[in-house]
Amino acid sequence: MKIILPLKQHVGAPCKPIVNTGEEVERGQLIAIPQGLGANIHASVYGTVDTITEEFITIIPAQEQPEGYVKIKETDNKLKAIEEAGIVGAGGAGFPTHVKLNVDLKDGYVIVNGAECEPILAHNLKIMEESPESLVRGVKYIKEITNASKGYIAVKAKYKKAVKSLKKACAIEKDIEVKFLPDIYPSGDERVIVRELLGIELEPGKLPLEAGAVVQNVETIKHIVNAIELRKPYITKDTTVAGRVQDGKKGKVFLDVPLGEPVGKYIELCGGFVKPYGEITLGGPFTGSAGSEDAPITKTLGGILVSMPFPQETRKMGILACECGAQEERLKEIAKAMGAEVVAEEKCKRMVEVNGRYRCDKPGECPGQAEKILNMKKKGIQVLLTGTCGD
Ligand code: SF4
Repeated sequence: MKIILPLKQHVGAPCKPIVNTGEEVERGQLIAIPQGLGANIHASVYGTVDTITEEFITIIPAQEQPEGYVKIKETDNKLKAIEEAGIVGAGGAGFPTHVKLNVDLKDGYVIVNGAECEPILAHNLKIMEESPESLVRGVKYIKEITNASKGYIAVKAKYKKAVKSLKKACAIEKDIEVKFLPDIYPSGDERVIVRELLGIELEPGKLPLEAGAVVQNVETIKHIVNAIELRKPYITKDTTVAGRVQDGKKGKVFLDVPLGEPVGKYIELCGGFVKPYGEITLGGPFTGSAGSEDAPITKTLGGILVSMPFPQETRKMGILACECGAQEERLKEIAKAMGAEVVAEEKCKRMVEVNGRYRCDKPGECPGQAEKILNMKKKGIQVLLTGTCGD
């Protein structure tokens, strides 16, 4: 088994390798550095560098894998520790965390995104249930870094066990509270969180910063705490495996999986595939995309889902995209796997173009789509594939 570490696991440019082929590396050793916006990449195992390309570094792991790791440089500067550790948004966005947190939020808010928004995924839930104190410490560190005065942990009320643990951990905290999110998709969208918790409606394309807030995903905060307290680089990922795997009915959570390992290993650890099966989806059901058993675990990989075989479809298909769920590219990928002919495409009417990119005008306040569907019917569709979460 080879470890594959992509040089771009973040928003920005690919990192530049600083090791050579044949070189022995230690777990935690810095192996690639950003060129502009980006985040450090460290070896996730002890081993020998096998290949270096413009896209990735591969490492052949040593037989012995001791517990330890090379610690990041010692520093009292918490933001610097986050930068050294190569932390990016683990929820899927991949934005470098040291850049996101380099703000002054005087009288503002640090908000933990505990929505666990994508159905089936459960690894953030496990952290909230089992390590709430660590999450609270993380909020305090981010408050200190950003000068924010309040911390909110945003979670859905239906996650009762997590709510109970978080409330207990926050009981003695003056400035950190548990707040509730509605049980809708996409309640984990940063603009939805700001709307629900602060009552501020951000326009499409605007960041929580405009409302005096930063929003951080639960797992990202875990990595921040590890960097500050243990000087640990971002070398492992939490993930959920579910679907047509033997142990996958409810989803199985794996914490601290070495980056770069193949997703197939974790399908095997769930007892292997249930046959017949269809696609391996990398990410969540709403925003994931098709992958393979060889694909590596990356800093932003949310889940590993195995679907049932896609039904084959001979009728003329229309596709209806959602900005927060499946967009045209993904819907076309699924249509192709179904063998369908796509004859019409539409976007949810709430999708608006901002700076060349489509955004949702009011995420989670999803409209009916009758008008769009009638348009497509005129173009001859007989069946619809939709990424929208409304009716
Ligand atoms: S309003 Fe439309 S684009 Fe926005 S989340 Fe709902 S379905 Fe998606």
